[in-house]
Amino acid sequence: MIRASIGSLSRLGLIDANFDIKPTTCYLLQYSSYGCNAGCLFCPQSSYSKSNKEFVSRIPWPAIELETIVNKIGEEHFSRICLQTVLKEDFEREAFDIIRRLREAGLNVPLSIATTPVSEKTLYEFKSLGVDSIGVGMDVASNRIFEEIKRPFKMDLFWNFIKKGVKVFNPHNVYVHLIYGLGEDDIEFASTMERVYEMGAEVALFSFTPVKGTPLEHFPQPEIGKYRLMQIIRYFLSNNYRLKEIVDIKEDQLKLKINVNVNEIKNAFLTSGCPACNRPFYNERPTKIYNYPSTSLLEKDIELIRCQIKKLLV
Ligand code: SF4
Repeated sequence: MIRASIGSLSRLGLIDANFDIKPTTCYLLQYSSYGCNAGCLFCPQSSYSKSNKEFVSRIPWPAIELETIVNKIGEEHFSRICLQTVLKEDFEREAFDIIRRLREAGLNVPLSIATTPVSEKTLYEFKSLGVDSIGVGMDVASNRIFEEIKRPFKMDLFWNFIKKGVKVFNPHNVYVHLIYGLGEDDIEFASTMERVYEMGAEVALFSFTPVKGTPLEHFPQPEIGKYRLMQIIRYFLSNNYRLKEIVDIKEDQLKLKINVNVNEIKNAFLTSGCPACNRPFYNERPTKIYNYPSTSLLEKDIELIRCQIKKLLV
């Protein structure tokens, strides 16, 4: 068994639902009936949370037989497949088997693995199976709150893993997942993003989304204006700016110091991550979009974004 996001299943014609914005990547998740052995406080997959195990963030991921996916996936022209791991016994070996099965079926699309730290040997094995990018589930941007939220991990384990990932997959092919709004402050978040870029990796930016049954279910989503600031900072860091060229720190607050024209930096507000990763509505309702999954949707909201970032510009 495996899980697939509801948008991916819809695109594969395996559920009776139609979505206006379709995923450009097919999102798969390892199956575990009791959930993931990690205890991340925000994640419904954690076996320590009381959530419905069909969910990751606000999206249902129904369980389905891998063979059903394998039989259909060749008919749809996804630009990428993303396999997300859960912490359970032998999850690495199972991930190898899933990728081998997808490859045996003749699928040659680019493949990402999203994972918590694994050994260098495992990374080389993924690479030999044709994985071209990895997503690193670091999630928490502050060392101060890391161990409280991302149980049982320590932040240093992730920094070492990012280094290994860049060595094995080369710069710009390692995408570090960071969730804004878990209780870190803006300076911590921006500095962590800068460190990721300094190491030759990239940031895949997420907004915190409270999910029923998790210990953080009553935690609020971040203010949209503050999230836009992080998107703008990420955008400029990915274009080789240094943090001190993008913002000033005044009274423990970040102040933008470059002139921003929304039309010129539109891509800052699209979903960030591996090429062709758009994660439609993964951490937002269609009425309040944090990461835009398509340029057409973004174009419609340009004026709205301009208003949302107005405060940052004065
Ligand atoms: S950035 Fe997107 S495609 Fe890449 S690992 Fe993360 S979720 Fe998967």
